[in-house]
Amino acid sequence: MRGATHFPSASHLIHTPMQAEIITTGTELLLGTIVDTNAAYLSQQLSRIGLDLYFRTTVGDNVQRITTAIRQALDRSDVVITTGGLGPTVDDVTRQAVAEATGRPLVFKEDLWIHIQELFARWGTSPKENNRRQAFVPEGSIVVENPVGTAPAFIVETPRGIVISLPGVPRELEYLMTSSILPYLKEELQTGERIIKSRTLRTCGIGESVIDDLISDLMTSSNPTVGLSAHPGQTDVRITAKASSEKLADELIAGMEAKVRERLGDAIYGVGEETLEEVVTRMLVRRGLRIAIVETNTGGLIARRLASAPQGQQVLAASIVVESPAEACEILSLDEEEVAGGLVQAQVAILIAEKTRLLRSVDLGLAVMGSMEAEETIYAADTGVSFEL
Ligand code: ATP
Repeated sequence: MRGATHFPSASHLIHTPMQAEIITTGTELLLGTIVDTNAAYLSQQLSRIGLDLYFRTTVGDNVQRITTAIRQALDRSDVVITTGGLGPTVDDVTRQAVAEATGRPLVFKEDLWIHIQELFARWGTSPKENNRRQAFVPEGSIVVENPVGTAPAFIVETPRGIVISLPGVPRELEYLMTSSILPYLKEELQTGERIIKSRTLRTCGIGESVIDDLISDLMTSSNPTVGLSAHPGQTDVRITAKASSEKLADELIAGMEAKVRERLGDAIYGVGEETLEEVVTRMLVRRGLRIAIVETNTGGLIARRLASAPQGQQVLAASIVVESPAEACEILSLDEEEVAGGLVQAQVAILIAEKTRLLRSVDLGLAVMGSMEAEETIYAADTGVSFEL
């Protein structure tokens, strides 16, 4: 049963407007020695182009904290704009934080290094070795050249969202916003709709708490998210991804689905709205098998569900509903003494399943034995053919 390709694709798609978020960095902002005019400027610019802004965060010059702030921002927003921390000194850690938060290693850009050297030459001096740091950007970034300063800006487009990193110096920030970033964002607003897509994997034969144990680490993922919802006899695992296109959302879901399937294996019987009875019926039809069922404590529920599936009546050869295993023995003319003679309940159930199968000349017999009051139900299957599920 493993492998998504067996099942029709069943998923939900929601289109959402883009949201932006600002992270200004700098310990001096937290100390209050300078006022955060960049955040105010950016807020005004974003509202002018109609981009919703839901959060603004300020973080000190600390690579872990900036990384965490960017990750959190990517969980809830589509565009994250950072300012500051792109200079040459060791406390300029934003590019490192963006690299870590987006999982893109920093790569050296020769042309950026040439640009920095040219700028210094124009000022009649030459760059220090630490200026080389500014020629590093996260892999795959769009580099935004900065003709008014040494710190280049960059844009990292990821399936989870876009990170735009701008220098802290207000004059440089404003120049780059007007010349490059606002035109880029306007374009994104027109074409870059956001999509939330989800896919439900349906499981049975395994409890919610067991699933929770098996995939608890995957359930902490923020995009895609993984959640459980339990129904009688089965648990759904819902994978939900947020991305700028359906293709990217599908990629995120597929990666997570492969991990979930590896852990839960054959406990996953279907996807989306598929029901257990549809899947079982399909398997029986595909193999040309028919089944006869005897039930004691279900009121014939199993047979009813099977019969309600498309082609269900074709595979269900007989349904016998009785009050007790003893009544089943009587109807099937099983020797009660033989049945009672030292056989445990499960063996009795197998005898009943076998007799039912033979009586109806079908391939499979299923006996579900128990009582409404008893905690335990015994399921016994008997097969007259050899087949693989
Ligand atoms: P540089 O290349 O100059 O180092 P940078 O990108 O590393 O640029 P920072 O070092 O963080 O930027 O900040 C440089 C200066 O810009 C700060 O000393 C401060 O004067 C100003 N600045 C930074 N962030 C802000 C802000 N959010 N609001 C107002 N001014 C800011």
